[in-house]
Amino acid sequence: MTTEPVLPRIRPEIAALPPYKQGKPAGASGFKLSSNENPFPPLDGVVEAVQAATSLNRYPDATAGRLRSALGERYGVATDEVLVGAGSVSLLAAFIQAAASTGDEVVYAWRSFEAYPGLVLVAGATSVQVPNRADGGHDLDAMAAAITERTRCVLVCSPNNPTGPIVTSAEFEAFVQQVPADVLILLDEAYAEFVDDENAVDGLGERVYEAHPNVVVLRTFSKAYGLAALRVGYAIGHARVLDGARATQIPLSVTAQSETAALASLEREEEVRARVAVVVERRTRLVAGLRDAGWDVPDTQSNFVWLPTADPAVAAAFDDAGLIVRPFDDGIRISVGEEESIDRVVDVARTVSS
Ligand SMILES: *Cc1c(COP(=O)(O)O)cnc(C)c1O
Repeated sequence: MTTEPVLPRIRPEIAALPPYKQGKPAGASGFKLSSNENPFPPLDGVVEAVQAATSLNRYPDATAGRLRSALGERYGVATDEVLVGAGSVSLLAAFIQAAASTGDEVVYAWRSFEAYPGLVLVAGATSVQVPNRADGGHDLDAMAAAITERTRCVLVCSPNNPTGPIVTSAEFEAFVQQVPADVLILLDEAYAEFVDDENAVDGLGERVYEAHPNVVVLRTFSKAYGLAALRVGYAIGHARVLDGARATQIPLSVTAQSETAALASLEREEEVRARVAVVVERRTRLVAGLRDAGWDVPDTQSNFVWLPTADPAVAAAFDDAGLIVRPFDDGIRISVGEEESIDRVVDVARTVSS
């Protein structure tokens, strides 16, 4: 006879969450196009720089001072206007926790980044999801209208993961004007480096946090810089707002190796730009091929494309062809990956097209 052991009580809203399921690895002849990763090997010299940081017995610099100072120089801000975290997802968590708790609301577009609902729930706050426009972009007027006196935080994702469209500078500025000055706006620009539309909001280039101290811009080394395994991202904004987020962070979560790799990558920006240009060129071909195959693909400024479909047979067809894609209820996200994957994605898309 087996009896169920008594387990410690878990918060009911946490216990109700589905268990985590990571995407499958691609087979030997396949391609993993499910996590918007960079398809290139590490930048020259980055592995060597990490290997040279050998003091594994010592804790890292808790403030990641060298990286914050390099980023401050890069973007023309003070070191205390930069906060780093173990991936920008961890920074999203820190800012949401700093701003919102039980009874508070967090407004964001939907569909958007799959991590948002869970981060809001763990903070104890309530998600207010505002449906995207028909073209997959944020409906910023509806988002502004969704703000109540309970709203503590708004998430804006540009380009939007998983649909791809940007928010323009003009749209963002008009939106910020409508948001109360005491509500935190997190501008999530995880894919900023892949943007080539000059109308797109560029939170750092435009220094939006200067005119609007309630705006914090989030970036990451995981995508364009190809350091997803090492977990390092950064936020730029008003020092006192960053202090709030820092207080909720788990101390010492950015390792010395991650900091070193990020610093080495910042010194190789030309190489990063060259790789980004290759991805953008593949993206252009991929979107054209998919549209030619009859798919209504939204404009994308990121390193992925969105196929709007609720048909599970479509994801199964990619799977059968060795292409690991990311299916959602209402569409499939496919990362722009290796050169050989581009034609294969289009070929499969053609066979399942309506
Ligand atoms: C990938 C991604 C991030 C950052 O991921 P990290 O690896 O945690 O830096 C943040 N926001 C969006 C929308 C993303 O797609």
